[in-house]
Amino acid sequence: MTASAHPAESVLAGLAGIRAWQEGLYRDLHQHPELSHQELRTAQLVVDRLGDFGYRVHAGIGGTGVVGILDNGPGPTVLLRADMDALPVKEATGLPYASTARSADAQGHDVSVMHACGHDIHVTALLGAAQLLAQGRDHWHGTVVALFQPAEETGDGARAMVEDGLASVLPKVDAAFAQHVFPIPAGIIGTHSGPFLASADSMRITVHGRGSHGSMPQSSVDPVVLAAMIVVRLQTIVSREVAPVEPAVLTVGSIEAGSKSNVIPDHAVLQLNIRTYNDQTRTTILDAIRRIVTAECAASGSPREPEFVLFDRFPVTVNDIETTARVRAAFSAFFGDKCWDMPEGTGSEDFGEIPSALGVPYTYWGVGGIDAATYQKAVAAGRVLEDIPVNHSPGFAPVIQPTLDAATSALVVATMPWLAPQ
Ligand code: ZN
Ligand code: ZN
Repeated sequence: MTASAHPAESVLAGLAGIRAWQEGLYRDLHQHPELSHQELRTAQLVVDRLGDFGYRVHAGIGGTGVVGILDNGPGPTVLLRADMDALPVKEATGLPYASTARSADAQGHDVSVMHACGHDIHVTALLGAAQLLAQGRDHWHGTVVALFQPAEETGDGARAMVEDGLASVLPKVDAAFAQHVFPIPAGIIGTHSGPFLASADSMRITVHGRGSHGSMPQSSVDPVVLAAMIVVRLQTIVSREVAPVEPAVLTVGSIEAGSKSNVIPDHAVLQLNIRTYNDQTRTTILDAIRRIVTAECAASGSPREPEFVLFDRFPVTVNDIETTARVRAAFSAFFGDKCWDMPEGTGSEDFGEIPSALGVPYTYWGVGGIDAATYQKAVAAGRVLEDIPVNHSPGFAPVIQPTLDAATSALVVATMPWLAPQ
């Protein structure tokens, strides 16, 4: 390393020395996934490591949330966030370190648990960056906040930390960053300026009918037929009520009614997921759902008004333009042509709740997790959608390298325009 080396390179000179524990920790986390709000083991690992690295640690924020603070003299404060939770998915990757874990979910059901969204990469990368920044403190000044958040998948972990007094343990933060592993080639970092990820809302709708014998439909108001009509009619909202240039998604992900072929049940439950990029479109869609469902119930002669429950709310993720430009320039200098522009995605994230509550600009970027040769083969065959498992699928597990190296490096590189301006 020469005296003129870029500070990011000086800090990242330690990467080779932490790779072994990072890869070991990643496999361990992958084999011990924990559902949203149950990240006790993961949080304890984080607390122990941050303590070893010399961070001031605040644990138990918003449940299992952890904040580590490293003061390194006067200068800006940068917050780096990782999410810790896993999903109720049965792993089918066939990897030697695949999860066989099971756990009780929030409803008490025993479910398989898997890090199917790659949050184990996020935790491992942030711990690695935390150690490198501590070891390399001669090359920068200011304050680093390493924040480990519970319950991203249920959309309420970031809010839980905010509501539990997160701001009171933090110094004034100048910029906040988070990253997510995506099904693009490993080693790639992808940035996006402006609105990046959609807002998301889930809605549970109960429609009421009148139960009867399957042979006597004239005595019933059949909620199965009613629900079927609703499912079809809801498809017209995005196609007919939202402008074609405005991205929006409405999915009916679950429909439940009845238990037996010759019994007409008395109610049906539909679960919907809605994604939009602005509040006006969101309101249009939510209002249209209520209007259509209420009118279809009336059309069927439903004996009771339908019930609507909104849950799993995520805000829209809007990357600050100036902050993104500074990070992007640092990434381009470090990663070269491995830094991509990413398009908007319809996924959602609750990270934005934290910087929004603190009044801090933020940017959120993507990290590739798919073996580059596998990805290229799929591209060449025109089979990316078929052959590349996406987040939340039972086959999604990032290749450990170069994913971890890139994700760890990205966190360090992003902080440098603030902590070690050239
Ligand atoms: Zn996810
Ligand atoms: Zn995720």
